[in-house]
Amino acid sequence: MIPYATAAEAEAALGRAMTWAEAVWYQYSAAMPDSWLHCLTTCILFVIYTITPLPLLVLEQFAPSVVLPYKLQPRVQVPLAASLRCYMEAAFVFPVAVGFQLVSYPAAAKILRTRMGLPLPSVRETVAQLVVYSLLEDYLSYWIHRLLHTKWGYEKIHRVHHEFTAPTGFAMSYSHWAENLLLSIPALAGPVIAPCHITTQWLWFSIRLIEGINIHSGYHFPFSPSKLIPFYGGAAYHDYHHYAGGHSQSNFAPLFTYCDYLYRTDKVSRSFLIYTIY
Ligand SMILES: [Zn+2]
Ligand SMILES: [Zn+2]
Repeated sequence: MIPYATAAEAEAALGRAMTWAEAVWYQYSAAMPDSWLHCLTTCILFVIYTITPLPLLVLEQFAPSVVLPYKLQPRVQVPLAASLRCYMEAAFVFPVAVGFQLVSYPAAAKILRTRMGLPLPSVRETVAQLVVYSLLEDYLSYWIHRLLHTKWGYEKIHRVHHEFTAPTGFAMSYSHWAENLLLSIPALAGPVIAPCHITTQWLWFSIRLIEGINIHSGYHFPFSPSKLIPFYGGAAYHDYHHYAGGHSQSNFAPLFTYCDYLYRTDKVSRSFLIYTIY
């Protein structure tokens, strides 16, 4: 909740006029309790998780010829019922997470040292934090993912996520509860080490969720950022990891592939992938 009764008071405290983004934030959040803003993170993620995979799912069911040229494993057709089962089983995590956020407030917000008021962070600060969070998450996720590919880790935990050898967007969160819990550590590491504004948190968690859905989509489109951004894995990179299954000992990286490169686990190049999977 912003501790100013009026916009004029907020501007007086800032010592300058609010930017348009700050004016919007003031209007939106001035009377909203901080606990609501804190829990809104999971609500936003639930909406994104529900909506983002739908366009591809609809095209796959009703106009498959439109997307078939870009499908990484064109011989595999995941039944609609399997995708929906995957969604239903993964979706229950979100209300549980909201409950956990409510119960853990304000302790969790204190650990994260989340800012919720004014001023809003600058674009430069936001971008810098997102880059640091991504690099940190990639490093920690890489090693957790490798541990999950040990015999014990795979059989007890990671096997659930690899049920789909040709993944779909909804398979992004389809995992054993212990895996979801483990992978929340790398996601939260950045915001804990370098605290940010709640809007940056929303952006960070939304980006990584959309990216997770993208790499599980099963499609590699011509406009994929993997062609433009160095060390960005993309859908083909992670699709191959699922294609190889439990025996896979390569392509562990979730976003940037620098760890796979450093530790020699990027055994299959992306260009090779695209031509061998077809
Ligand atoms: Zn794996
Ligand atoms: Zn996966």
